[in-house]
Amino acid sequence: MSLDLVFLGPPGAGKGTQAKTCAERHGLSHVSTGDLFRQNLKEETPVGLMARGFMDKGLLVPDEVACQMVRECLEGEGDTEGFILDGFPRTIAQAETLDGDLSRMQRPLTAVVSFEIADGMLTERLTGRLTCRDCSTPFHVAFNPPEQEGVCDACAGELCTRDDDTEQAVGARLSEYRDKSAPLLDFYETRGLLCGVDAAQPVDGVSAALERALEDR
Ligand code: AMP
Repeated sequence: MSLDLVFLGPPGAGKGTQAKTCAERHGLSHVSTGDLFRQNLKEETPVGLMARGFMDKGLLVPDEVACQMVRECLEGEGDTEGFILDGFPRTIAQAETLDGDLSRMQRPLTAVVSFEIADGMLTERLTGRLTCRDCSTPFHVAFNPPEQEGVCDACAGELCTRDDDTEQAVGARLSEYRDKSAPLLDFYETRGLLCGVDAAQPVDGVSAALERALEDR
């Protein structure tokens, strides 16, 4: 049985950090739509160029584009024990499309993990965030600092602040989350898939809580 997971939570909740380590621990593929869009942007592909305007403003890229990108990833998935979708779905329409795609693949979701954290902590987390230019590993100046300043622990790449971690874009991203993504909690709760993890703890505490939640499923 594969372990097929969705990680939900507001920007800054630590989904990306947890998805990366959880995928390594369990041999899962980590599908981060934010990373995929940033990669497309770097390579100046048509998807990247169309996504740029939305990303810079902190707005969601249109559903069809995100859905198609994820569909291609899942169909091309290699020999793994399952997947973690990090940052997808972000709207009810995306969740419904994903449902259809997964039933066609006869691969129902195992669980949807909700990373729970109070709004007040998010801005602080997002504005201190550092991301590796090469491998996208996230760090935080205070909560999860790299061993050497400015250098990625994983690949020695250069750490930078994301273009959309500015105060204005962060405000828009949080409001997009509240309006369009928060309703997914009810959507998956109703389907009996949702489990909550307290994301306000230090990184190791969240990882331990995540493992317990997965064992309980
Ligand atoms: P993230 O790295 O997950 O915070 O995503 C960065 C940006 O990529 C978001 O603010 C959106 O502009 C875009 N994005 C990522 N995932 C999605 C998605 N599932 N649907 C639409 N836009 C997305």
